[in-house]
Amino acid sequence: MERGAARPVGPRIDVERCVGCGVCAGVCPSGAIEFDEEAFVFSLDPAKCMECGLCVEACDRGAVSLMDWGELYVDHVFLETERCPNCGAVYPKNRGECPVCGFAVRLIKEVYGL
Ligand code: SF4
Ligand code: SF4
Repeated sequence: MERGAARPVGPRIDVERCVGCGVCAGVCPSGAIEFDEEAFVFSLDPAKCMECGLCVEACDRGAVSLMDWGELYVDHVFLETERCPNCGAVYPKNRGECPVCGFAVRLIKEVYGL
């Protein structure tokens, strides 16, 4: 990808905060943020970024910012994942609980005082 010809900034994802919900990619009107919801990988293209700020506003985790498009720009971001010991689903580690069975497990523990 050729850099430096279009916009001066592009989206940046903070992997320490991101839970992989995909909302930022959903609101981006230009395709500058794409999110693979199976592999939990972001593809970022600052050349498409219009600097509208919608992604920054949409992320309730404060995990999106806009950064200079230079040598340090990272255009593929991988989220750390873990596998649920109960159902085997794979999900971003920052979610804290399995999105498939986590709620049910927590409810059962609360009901039975486990
Ligand atoms: S950066 Fe924010 S909005 Fe985008 S996937 Fe991560 S948590 Fe969701
Ligand atoms: S600032 Fe706007 S165009 Fe750029 S990545 Fe965010 S939502 Fe997309």
